[in-house]
Parts: sequence; structure tokens; C-alpha cells
Amino acid sequence: MSNHDILQGGCLCGQIRYAISPGSVFDAGWCHCRQCRQMTGSAALPFFNVMPAAFEILQGNPKRYCSSYQGWRVFCGDCGSPIWYQPAEPGGHIAVNTGTLDHPDDASVRPRFHMFDVERLPWFDADPALPRFQDNELTHPDTRKLYQP
Ligand SMILES: [Zn+2]
Ligand SMILES: [Zn+2]
Repeated sequence: MSNHDILQGGCLCGQIRYAISPGSVFDAGWCHCRQCRQMTGSAALPFFNVMPAAFEILQGNPKRYCSSYQGWRVFCGDCGSPIWYQPAEPGGHIAVNTGTLDHPDDASVRPRFHMFDVERLPWFDADPALPRFQDNELTHPDTRKLYQP
């Protein structure tokens, strides 16, 4: 396994570092929900999903904020970078903020759908041809029937 196969990333100040196992990204998309906009201060959030076993904290002690009964927003307490989403459900998948990757240009994390499209800002529309979900309707691929944009 070469270093090129491993996705790594971290926060702006470099205290928090993480690694993703090769080939473990199973979903990547845009989230347009209000929470993701507030957390990042951006118009929308590109993210990707991995199972907890494929995600490793290499360095640092991130803080977390309980954003809903569903889970926590994990961030660096020093520089404030929002890094990933930790579900409350045991074994649930982790959603990593794509912009924190060292190489977010990697093809495996290219967005392939729009989440919470119902909350999308009307002036923001990246990749209009991608499938659209009005809510968080996307389940893990093992339990997914089909894309229903
Ligand atoms: Zn930091
Ligand atoms: Zn969101």
C-alpha cells in the first residue's frame, strides 16, 4: 500500500490529522442543509462517507458539538476547522468534510449527488446534472434500493 492510496487530511492549524483506508469511500456528495452551511460558513458542504473502521485519528484531540440527537460535529478547538460528522448511532458511518483532505481533488471524493436539495440556496448550483435528494434519504449502499433523485 503506497501513500498515494491513503486519503489523509486535517484541520487548518495541523493539530488534528486523520487517515482513511484505501477504497473505503462509499458515497460523496454536496450537503445543502442549514446546519452544514452554518458550521462551515459556506453555501454548501462537499462531504464523503466511510464506515468507522476505515477512519483513524492519527493525531490530536478534536472537540465535538452535539448538533442534533443524530450526532456530533467534530472540529479543532484551536483553529475551529469543522472536520467530520460523528453519528450517535453505534457503527453508523462517518461523514468527512472533503475540504479537509490533503488532496480533495482525488476522484473517489468527487460529489455524485445533492443532499437536502430542498434547502439549497437558489444561487448555488454546482453540477446541476447530479441526482437530488430533498432530505437525508440516502442510506448505506448495502441497504439501498436505487437512486431516486
Ligand atoms: Zn486546528
Ligand atoms: Zn448537511
